[in-house]
Amino acid sequence: MENCIFCKIIRGEIPSRKVFEDDRLLVIEDVSPQAPLHLLLLPKKHVVNCLDMTPGEDALAGYALRTGGAIAREKGYADTGFRIVQNNGAGAGQSVFHIHFHLLAGRPLAWPPG
Ligand code: AMP
Repeated sequence: MENCIFCKIIRGEIPSRKVFEDDRLLVIEDVSPQAPLHLLLLPKKHVVNCLDMTPGEDALAGYALRTGGAIAREKGYADTGFRIVQNNGAGAGQSVFHIHFHLLAGRPLAWPPG
C-alpha cells in the first residue's frame, strides 16, 4: 500500500531496527517500547487487521505466532513468559492499519491488559 508506514518499512523506505526477515515476515523493534523487549511482527502482505483476513492469510498468522515464540525463546523469555498481542480497530488501540503482532517481554505483564 502506497501510504502505509509498515509497507514503507517493509520496502526499506523508512529505517527500522530489524530483528528477523524472510519472504513472509519482518520483525522490528517498536519505536516506542512498552517493555524491555517490544518487537513488532509484520506480515509483509498488506492486510488491515483480522477483519480483513481471508483464508489465504491463515498460515501467515500462524507463522507470525510461531516465529514470535521462537524469537522469545532465543532471547531467554521462554520460562519467564511473554505476550503476543494484536489490536483490531482504533478502539482497541490499533494505530497502524497494517496487521501486526506485538511481542512483549521482560517485565510483569498484567491481565486484563486494559
Ligand atoms: P498499534 O497501536 O497496535 O497499531 O501498534 C503500532 C505500533 O507501531 C506502536 O507500538 C508504535 O510505537 C509502532 N510504530 C509506529 N511507527 C513505527 C516505526 N516507524 N518504527 C517502529 N515502530 C513504529
